[in-house]
Amino acid sequence: MRDGYNGFLFRAPKIKIIKGQKMGFLDFLKEAACDIGMHSWSDWFYGQSDCTQIRQCVRPLCKKVNDEKRTLHTFGEWDYPIEGACRKIRTCSRCGYVVERTEHQWGEWEYKTEGDCSQLRKCLRCPDSETRIEHVLAVWRYEGPKSCNQISICERCGHKGIRTAIVTEDHDSWSAWGYDDALRHCGAQARYCLRCSKKEKRMVIAQHQYSDWKQISPSRRERRCLHCGRVEES
Ligand SMILES: [Zn+2]
Ligand SMILES: [Zn+2]
Ligand SMILES: [Zn+2]
Ligand SMILES: [Zn+2]
Ligand SMILES: [Zn+2]
Ligand SMILES: [Zn+2]
Repeated sequence: MRDGYNGFLFRAPKIKIIKGQKMGFLDFLKEAACDIGMHSWSDWFYGQSDCTQIRQCVRPLCKKVNDEKRTLHTFGEWDYPIEGACRKIRTCSRCGYVVERTEHQWGEWEYKTEGDCSQLRKCLRCPDSETRIEHVLAVWRYEGPKSCNQISICERCGHKGIRTAIVTEDHDSWSAWGYDDALRHCGAQARYCLRCSKKEKRMVIAQHQYSDWKQISPSRRERRCLHCGRVEES
């Protein structure tokens, strides 16, 4: 009998106890979040003796393990297992996993013989070598006034290089964009290369060129596009 009450004794409700732990309202909300899949994941940690890492929900009543896994090896330094060879390996100190790669230490490219464009380079560590063709091309010139092909002669071996001139959007050898008479379509435009006549097309919003209105009947009149033949009525 306290606090001015007569005859009744009020007792605070018992705090809910689960597995020996007090559970406040906030904890209850958090566990509810786990129920709908909103877990609070830990940092990655190693689950087993291999290099697979996992994460786990940190809430004591959940402890769910995330389905995601990742592999994190602890590699040592790169090592050459064989002297005079370019194969390198490194080993994981946790699980023994080995990765290898080959990395040559190439010397300079050198021409093999005079008047020939084959080049050779040798590895400074192992007996490997590589070859390539490297021409010494002169300035590119147009093949002729009506052509967009360009040629260049190699100054070492006389090899003739051919390429098509690189024509960009603002290249001055293009005509202006205009309607293409062959297409008879007001939405299609074409332009031509002024050197070689190569044609390029693009689609645009149709701009029709109509004739004057013509009275067809007392209530109808029409006009026709002079270019594509489209008919409009009113
Ligand atoms: Zn959880
Ligand atoms: Zn490992
Ligand atoms: Zn090598
Ligand atoms: Zn050459
Ligand atoms: Zn051209
Ligand atoms: Zn038209």
